[in-house]
Amino acid sequence: MSIDLKSLVRTIPDYPQKGIMFRDITTLIEHPAGFRQSIEEMAAKYSGQSITHVAGIEARGFIFGAGIAIALGVGFIPVRKAGKLPGETIGQNYALEYGVDTVEIHTGVVKEGDNILLVDDLIATGGTALATLNLLRRTGATVEHAVFVVDLPEIGGAGKLRAKNVQVDSLMSFEGH
Ligand code: AMP
Repeated sequence: MSIDLKSLVRTIPDYPQKGIMFRDITTLIEHPAGFRQSIEEMAAKYSGQSITHVAGIEARGFIFGAGIAIALGVGFIPVRKAGKLPGETIGQNYALEYGVDTVEIHTGVVKEGDNILLVDDLIATGGTALATLNLLRRTGATVEHAVFVVDLPEIGGAGKLRAKNVQVDSLMSFEGH
């Protein structure tokens, strides 16, 4: 029986700051059948797409990305915040509301010809996903697909990814912010 996955995502108003409706996926992943279904539904979209790697964005992108990688039978690439990876890295800066942040991958982990699926729990402004897209494409890899559990379409991040020739999918969307 199919589970209504959206009903398993909890909304916490005013977290981490006033006015933000925080879409909390911890209630989804603690539900065994819901967690399994979310991974299976996301992986099923890419079974015929010759994906070679899944790249998951720290930290909640690891939870879903790892499951999707196992389901597709491909390797997993952790996209980490600055200074967390032990080996030589390449990074991409991106602007935050206040300041800058950096995403990094290990040098040599992806190369030209690889076909990478980008995964995170949620896309809002798209800042993190766009920086990751740029980083992966700088290696010569192909990135034509991105999947999220939650899309917030009114904020516009998914549209920005589509403008960069990425097909964007999600399991659910929420109106507003
Ligand atoms: P953005 O770069 O604006 O697309 O933000 C994406 C990242 O911030 C994701 O990794 C989310 O985990 C987190 N995030 C942003 N907005 C929300 C929200 N309303 N609820 C839950 N997580 C959020």
